[in-house]
Amino acid sequence: MTNYKNHLLFGVVCWVAVCYVFNFLQHPLFAVSFAVVAVSSLFPDLDSQSSKINNFTELSLAGIILFVAGVLYFTKNNLLLPLLFACGALIFAMQLLRHRGVMHSPILGIFIASAIYFLFSHFLAAAFLVGFFSHLLADQHF
Ligand SMILES: [Zn+2]
Repeated sequence: MTNYKNHLLFGVVCWVAVCYVFNFLQHPLFAVSFAVVAVSSLFPDLDSQSSKINNFTELSLAGIILFVAGVLYFTKNNLLLPLLFACGALIFAMQLLRHRGVMHSPILGIFIASAIYFLFSHFLAAAFLVGFFSHLLADQHF
């Protein structure tokens, strides 16, 4: 049974090994890449109702909803209304995910890494891929 600590540790170890092999240790985004690896090594378990990342994400989204609802109440500013609906929709969608379904799909990992590649950097995209695939490997998904 692989828990979140093992996923985190395995993801970081894999990332350090990749950085060592490809001589990325001096990269300017090296420290930032560990945050990406930490998130991506836990990311697939967003579909598990008992996972730490699922509980943290739902709690964060609920906090955002409460904050935005408070701002809407006091300011009557409707610009934040889409954020309120988006957070609610994400919480609802997370309830519909089947464990080890689409969130554990290699295609989803490649898709998100591609988005990171085009929006941010190839280095952080590589960090996401290593974290994501280390999770699938630890889950014996291959
Ligand atoms: Zn998993």
